[in-house]
Amino acid sequence: MARIFSGIQPSGELHIGNYLGAVKNWVALQHTAESIFCIVDYHAIIGAYEPDQLRARRREMALGLLAAGIDPDVASLFVQSDVPEHTELAWIFNTVTPLGELERQTQFKDKSQRMESVNAGLLNYPILQAADIMLYRADQVPVGEDQIQHLELARVIARRWNAQFAGEQEFFPEPKPLLTPTRRIMGLDGQSKMSKSMGNTIGMMESRDEIWAKLRPAVTDPKRIKKTDPGTPEVCNIYHLHRAFSPPPTVEHVAVQCSTAGWGCIDCKKVLLESMETELVPIRTRAEELRAQPDRLDAALASGAEKCRGIARETMRGVRDRMGFG
Ligand code: SF4
Repeated sequence: MARIFSGIQPSGELHIGNYLGAVKNWVALQHTAESIFCIVDYHAIIGAYEPDQLRARRREMALGLLAAGIDPDVASLFVQSDVPEHTELAWIFNTVTPLGELERQTQFKDKSQRMESVNAGLLNYPILQAADIMLYRADQVPVGEDQIQHLELARVIARRWNAQFAGEQEFFPEPKPLLTPTRRIMGLDGQSKMSKSMGNTIGMMESRDEIWAKLRPAVTDPKRIKKTDPGTPEVCNIYHLHRAFSPPPTVEHVAVQCSTAGWGCIDCKKVLLESMETELVPIRTRAEELRAQPDRLDAALASGAEKCRGIARETMRGVRDRMGFG
């Protein structure tokens, strides 16, 4: 059985961008491959942060993942900092990673341009990502398109380490991307990717009224100024959310109603709200149950960490041995 690894930052409450862009896919994949899902808290400390907030966000993310359908009896869910081998392997990979490859990473170039002072962690971030994957010698990594470049670098790192230390055999498999089927989800402003830092998200745990308060003013096709103006569904973020949440006959109906000016955008958004509620209410219910039983959350994370520590130690034994340590 193939082994997959994927990580998510502990940004607190899961939002529908995380859910549609990654987590919903994880929930399906956990039944098809040995699945390891990691809350990558070491990745979350590159910018300024509050330690107490990090603790709370890590927990909230774990709760969201379990409520969304990650089953700890099927997949391993754990927190990165509970398995210290991640940082040990990252250091080792530092020594085989070409600096030029790191400087070429689009995400580094974008983010560093917006920062007053750039720390080495931002540059080396993809090395830690490579270590996350290789520690479990994962064959496949579910990713969005924006992560493909980092995964390609992970493959380069695996190749270089193997060439230097693994002799004839391949110790680290070169992980293959498993592209997430959902296109990246735009924020409610219709301008940029849905992300907490942009303030354009809908949280998975928000109530029906809170969701409607955000959906109602959300950006649609800018050319639909009056209700009588026909629209172009493909340019509208609400239509793409329908494609993610509504059944196919509803999506078809939306496209027809939009392009023939058969209804207004508010009508369209009301239908979307119902589709979202159908999917989100059971998730919110499970989240409430988990909140009432914090021991279940602790037990899930502890058992995930225990299992992953076992795999990580085994990998590091092989790494140390081949590199002349111990
Ligand atoms: S009718 Fe729906 S799909 Fe068309 S522009 Fe309005 S919100 Fe978007």
